[in-house]
Amino acid sequence: SGGFDPETVKKDFPLLQRRTRDDQPLVYLDSAATAQKPLQVLDAERDFYLTRNGAAHRGAHQLAEAATETYESARETVAGFIGGAPDELVFTKNATEAVNLVAYAMGNTAYAGSESAHLRLAPGDEILVTEMEHHANLVPWQQLSQRTGATLRWIPLTADGRLDDTAVDRLLNKRTRLVALTHQSNVLGTVNPVASIAARAHAVGALVLVDAAQSVAHQRVDVTALGADFLVFSAHKMLGPLGIGALWGRRELLDAMPPFLTGGSMIEHVTMERTTFLPPPQRFEPGVPPAPQAAGFAAAVHYLRALGMDAVQAHEEHLTRTALDQLAQIPEVTVIGPTTTEDRGATVSFTLDGVHPHDVGDVLDDLGIAVRTGHHCARPICDRYNIPATTRASFYLYNTEDDITALSDGIRAALHRYA
Ligand code: PMP
Repeated sequence: SGGFDPETVKKDFPLLQRRTRDDQPLVYLDSAATAQKPLQVLDAERDFYLTRNGAAHRGAHQLAEAATETYESARETVAGFIGGAPDELVFTKNATEAVNLVAYAMGNTAYAGSESAHLRLAPGDEILVTEMEHHANLVPWQQLSQRTGATLRWIPLTADGRLDDTAVDRLLNKRTRLVALTHQSNVLGTVNPVASIAARAHAVGALVLVDAAQSVAHQRVDVTALGADFLVFSAHKMLGPLGIGALWGRRELLDAMPPFLTGGSMIEHVTMERTTFLPPPQRFEPGVPPAPQAAGFAAAVHYLRALGMDAVQAHEEHLTRTALDQLAQIPEVTVIGPTTTEDRGATVSFTLDGVHPHDVGDVLDDLGIAVRTGHHCARPICDRYNIPATTRASFYLYNTEDDITALSDGIRAALHRYA
């Protein structure tokens, strides 16, 4: 396994010590939805309010200065974690908002800054996504296509839950302006060959947006190695607070982009008639900045760095192998997604013959095991595999082999009750 003891790690997570409504020890297998928070993250947020609460980028007093310093230092930490520069890192509400920010820029025709003209989509242009996208990286592109007359295309999935690579070169062409794809699927667990697809996308002149919501928490992510032009993620899936996420973008692209939301602290000069805007990242961050959330975000990065992302990945790979082995022992289980640990993360979706996923979820919940059931905000995957829903177990650094044994026992209990 990895270079740390998950039982020791678990002690940092107060909620994982709690017992459930039915007085069961909590087995948390829903980190793909949101991760639990270590004390270090909770303390960082609390410490902000206790010692530095002020409005960052405003005010002449010491508290406002300390808040600004906290916020900007968090930007440096978070940017560094993905191999980016601080002035290329925009804090957003979450990954969803980050995608929408880029989609807005690519559809905006009213912006005075003509530098953005080359980003703007026109009828006949194409956006390429994949059939495994989370709705957050699908619906904004559908909407943008409808607004601009661009065409949305997608890379289809193979039977075993991977992208059909033979389709990539067929789909990419001179009209492709953007390829928006997930690094790791939140349903199938598949890790996509982003660097290879990005190289081919760049060869036809397209930009590449990487949805790293499910990967930054689980493996080393480097924007240059991936060949990303934009990369989006959320703090809450990587041990950090809810309510903050990030957009990383290449500097010259961000420079050319119009503001998304407008208001205070993103302006250069305002008269009653018109406004000029600050350069990025401030151009995209109107309103009083969420400095305590940023402090928590940075604390999450420090926590992950201390464990080491290679160790985190190795631990998760061990858990995934254990889970796939155990599930293979139950003939009624069908895994939806890759069944080997190669190019796959620690998110395992499955169906159970004779038992609806919602019933599986109920039985597991009674046993203190938290999973997610449904379409996981990636509805087209269910259509592709002709299933109404899946049960999804997702593992993280605080999970143990015992958690996986509890899951298999729980699945057997569900079969016993319903099948
Ligand atoms: N993309 C993927 C792959 C996700 O799993 C999620 C979260 N479920 C998102 C985007 C959106 O993240 P958020 O809800 O934090 O904006």
